Amino acid sequence: MKLYNSITKQKEEFKPIAGDKVTIYSCGPTVYNYFHIGNARPFIVFDVLRRYLEYRGYNVVFVQNFTDIDDKVIARANELGLDYLEIANRYIDEYYKDAKGLGIRKASIHPRATENIDAIIELVEKLFETGYAYEVNGDVYFRALKFTDYGKLSKQPIEDLVSGARIEVDERKEHPIDFALWKAAKLGEPAWDSPWGRGRPGWHIECSAMANRYLGPTIDIHSGGVDLKFPHHENEIAQSEAANGCRFANFWLHNAFLNIDNQKMSKSLGNFLTVREIAEKYGYEPIRFFMLSAHYRSPLNYSVDSMTQASAALERLYTAKRNLEFIAENGERGELDGNDNSVLSGLDKNREAFIGAMDDDLNTADAVAAIFELVRDINILVNNTPKVEFAKACLERLYELADVLGLMRRDDEDELSAEIEALIEKRSLARKNRDFAEADRIRDELKSRGIVLEDTPQGVKWHRI
Ligand code: AMP
Ligand code: ZN
Repeated sequence: MKLYNSITKQKEEFKPIAGDKVTIYSCGPTVYNYFHIGNARPFIVFDVLRRYLEYRGYNVVFVQNFTDIDDKVIARANELGLDYLEIANRYIDEYYKDAKGLGIRKASIHPRATENIDAIIELVEKLFETGYAYEVNGDVYFRALKFTDYGKLSKQPIEDLVSGARIEVDERKEHPIDFALWKAAKLGEPAWDSPWGRGRPGWHIECSAMANRYLGPTIDIHSGGVDLKFPHHENEIAQSEAANGCRFANFWLHNAFLNIDNQKMSKSLGNFLTVREIAEKYGYEPIRFFMLSAHYRSPLNYSVDSMTQASAALERLYTAKRNLEFIAENGERGELDGNDNSVLSGLDKNREAFIGAMDDDLNTADAVAAIFELVRDINILVNNTPKVEFAKACLERLYELADVLGLMRRDDEDELSAEIEALIEKRSLARKNRDFAEADRIRDELKSRGIVLEDTPQGVKWHRI
């Protein structure tokens, strides 16, 4: 499998450090609000990375942090007159709700900055010992120029990095590019005891400390959005490598940005969209499907059209699935013969196409196309061979690939199916009892939910409008 490594700027063969174990650290959300559609991109894409590595037989340890203390969390808490912890806890809960809806699995570990203050302090102390940290009136900074590899991820001269990031001049710092490891407490702000007085951690240090605590000094893959390359990831590298004396991450993966109607998403442009509000309109799954319809390193544009298209495409998958389920229930019984089995193995090429796409730097756009090819082939095959066992085998093929992308999650759809099946059953009973008014009422109720019934000689079928 090849992955594009941002630090070498090329696709490289992926090989984990230790056997079949893969360690991934992915920068998580700052929890002061519902997460927005742009944030959803790394969460979904790197969830797929994890799923695919597992599909290929790796044992993945996936860590995604919650930044539960920073300026934005504090500002939001002040705005609402609440404690910062109430805000953080609230939006961590909301993260889990949206993530579940989007099919983003829980990480192996979701560490929180405020629960790792001891590891953060320990790391800063180590940076003092190695001469990389200095203190000014309770603030602690990292001496960036001492780290001779500084800038190796961004690949830009220090002067360009300084001017590009519009870093404010701060007399307390030895050099403008130096960054805060620890911030002295301000009045009314949450603070923790430290050897440098009460204060709170800077942002970058939490990821270095938590990656080291939960995954060790060198990790296989570090990921996040492209905006995090500088300064966040550059600073993580500097802190971790200066403290541990070894390479921090072998692979750096960065997703490109998501725009809204071809504009950068921002509160001031009024085009700021949370996943929650989009899901309320279109459901969660079309959002996931839309995200995977492009390669993660290509810019992606969100629009109403993109959601409509994603919903329609997903619907085609579900229609195929329901047809297969129908045959699996009502088709011809009996064992598959040699010919059936050889027809089924013809579907191996679709799996190969899917794997080929995913092996090529996680090309989910081509992987989705391979699933549609599979569906097209299956539709033709089951029409020729409407056998129960054949349909079941085709369903397994479909699930196998859809699962890797976290699409067509069985549970949610099964719940819906069970409810609809129960209503269909009720309608059949009403018709048997010649209660046509009730039968029509049930048909209309389903129709108002976008579900149409079709009476066939084998029984009642349903599909979405
Ligand atoms: P934050 O909560 O701002 O720290 O961001 C969480 C994750 O979302 C980070 O990996 C960011 O790089 C990523 N991210 C933020 N905005 C966008 C966007 N518009 N498109 C893609 N990724 C984004
Ligand atoms: Zn981070």
